[in-house]
Amino acid sequence: MDGYWGKILVADLGTGRLFDEPLNEKYARDFLGSTGLAARYLYDLVDEKTDPLGPENPLILMPGLLNGTSGPSVSRWGGAAKSPLTGHYGDANAGALFGAELKRAGYDGIILKGQSTTPVYIYVKDGVATLKDAGGLWGKDTYKTQEAIKKECKDKRTQIACIGSASENLVPYGNIMSEYGHSLGRAGLGCVMGSKQVKAIACRGRMKLPMQDSERFRKFARKAMKEVKEAFLSQWMHEGGTASWVDSAISYGDGPTKYYTAPTMAEATKISGVTMAEKYETGHTACFGCPIRCRKVLRIQEGKYKYESVEGPEYETVIALGAMMGLDLDMSSIVYLNELCNGYGFDTISGGASAGYAFYLYDMGIISDKDTGGLKLTWGNVDAAIALLDLIGKKEGFGAIVAEGTKRMARRYGRPAGEAVQTKGLEIPMHDPRAYHSMGLAYATSPRGADHNKSDGYQVDGGVGHPDLGLNADDRWGDKKAAMVEKSQNYRALTDSIGICHFAMIPFTLIVDMINAYTDWDTDIDQLLKAGERVFQLQRALSCKLGITSKDDVLPELIMRPIQEGGQEGHVPNMEKMLPEYYALRDWDSATGKPSKERLEGLGMSEIAASIDAK
Ligand code: SF4
Repeated sequence: MDGYWGKILVADLGTGRLFDEPLNEKYARDFLGSTGLAARYLYDLVDEKTDPLGPENPLILMPGLLNGTSGPSVSRWGGAAKSPLTGHYGDANAGALFGAELKRAGYDGIILKGQSTTPVYIYVKDGVATLKDAGGLWGKDTYKTQEAIKKECKDKRTQIACIGSASENLVPYGNIMSEYGHSLGRAGLGCVMGSKQVKAIACRGRMKLPMQDSERFRKFARKAMKEVKEAFLSQWMHEGGTASWVDSAISYGDGPTKYYTAPTMAEATKISGVTMAEKYETGHTACFGCPIRCRKVLRIQEGKYKYESVEGPEYETVIALGAMMGLDLDMSSIVYLNELCNGYGFDTISGGASAGYAFYLYDMGIISDKDTGGLKLTWGNVDAAIALLDLIGKKEGFGAIVAEGTKRMARRYGRPAGEAVQTKGLEIPMHDPRAYHSMGLAYATSPRGADHNKSDGYQVDGGVGHPDLGLNADDRWGDKKAAMVEKSQNYRALTDSIGICHFAMIPFTLIVDMINAYTDWDTDIDQLLKAGERVFQLQRALSCKLGITSKDDVLPELIMRPIQEGGQEGHVPNMEKMLPEYYALRDWDSATGKPSKERLEGLGMSEIAASIDAK
């Protein structure tokens, strides 16, 4: 089967046995790779009773279909497991070099099963995998872990996906980190890895990819490379990075401030991508084969924390660790906060939002110094924010409570459920649905819980559409969003499975050409779009299998309160209108939330329809 090695590495950690399992070719053909393929494997392995931190919960990591090829910006890899944060379907994806290295090391994926009794790491090199002792690595931060493994392997090009002490301590939103600051974040897949006592997976691959027609692939990849290089979005991302969105977020009211209760902070420009570029940037880094190179290298010689060379924080982090707690930060402190979270290895979105909720509860007088262990969580108190994030990483003191996430925090303090700004247990990212109503619908219906990367709502209505998909900018406060959200969710389910970065504007025809040259398929745009829908509906069916119903497709009450000042101008999304229209398009049952039998069968998933008893 061209495009795949035909084998998955299975690590049975209970026995310490590593073995190869043949790739399920039908799953690969239908769900492609990364989060799509991982979700399909996960579907067979978990149910409502599975304990997310028990040995029966697998952790599945898969390269995107095109990882490791010379296609532009096709480096994204993904994973899936039952989430310890939300208790249902969890997935995440990341860029950098790990996915490409795993693929070039001869595997189409890794499944971790069982639990080890001592810390271990898995070393994969050119088709051979070994289990190694990680006793000396346990307790190290994610940076030192990578350095130590590279030293032990005597190969600086080894790519490592590892956890820090947050996941060792079972913080439910612990990340898997790779390279320097690339996160497989959200939903706590790192925590699942920590529960298995797997400190890292290290890969080194120099194998020639199983490509059907290398010459034809190179021809299309070159064309795609040219298109990506010349796209306006690429240049924008190269110049400003994701943090350049900070300025737009301020004008549109998109950046949540003081736990969603205040207009976006204008002071955030001090830490925006534009400021990074103008004052601190010394260079760029990139994920595997990406000509955009959106990631910034900074030199910071002013402020409390000095850095000779450090990666700049992304937009989500800038807002989650700044405005969310009402912090008026300088570049030195936002970089420090980002490095703190990356070193411990936890999600800056869930971590920042949970810390923001703690500040909110303190401001409301619900909690006091007695609860916080003396931390004075007044809006804007940077030192308290640093101390709190440090405690989350260690899961100590008040940090252990904030480490549980907003939904459990609300329950603990007897607060209304709608005060925790999350959907399905996952904290809402830093694009406020009151600024872009499509994001409200996307958050409410995303299978893993609130997710800004599983649709293109704010991007499309912010002016970065996909004309070849018929997705063009529209009134950001409109309520005719169901079709756009449905289409863009399907598209993102597809591009995530292929491994394409959100910022790479590869014409659809070239995506098809590259896949046909790489594999032995004869696919086309319609078949690929259908694959995108298949992945999305599968993930939804999996959420339903794990207990999610239509009752969970709601936005929390706090975020439905209008803010009259600033860029939101008092708007809130009209969920009563959008949600039923969306359900009709998706063919989901209004009571159970399950996709219909007919729709699942039409997508070639009769076994899934039967297993969730779809009507
Ligand atoms: S645009 Fe940025 S995030 Fe996307 S692949 Fe390139 S370097 Fe990575």
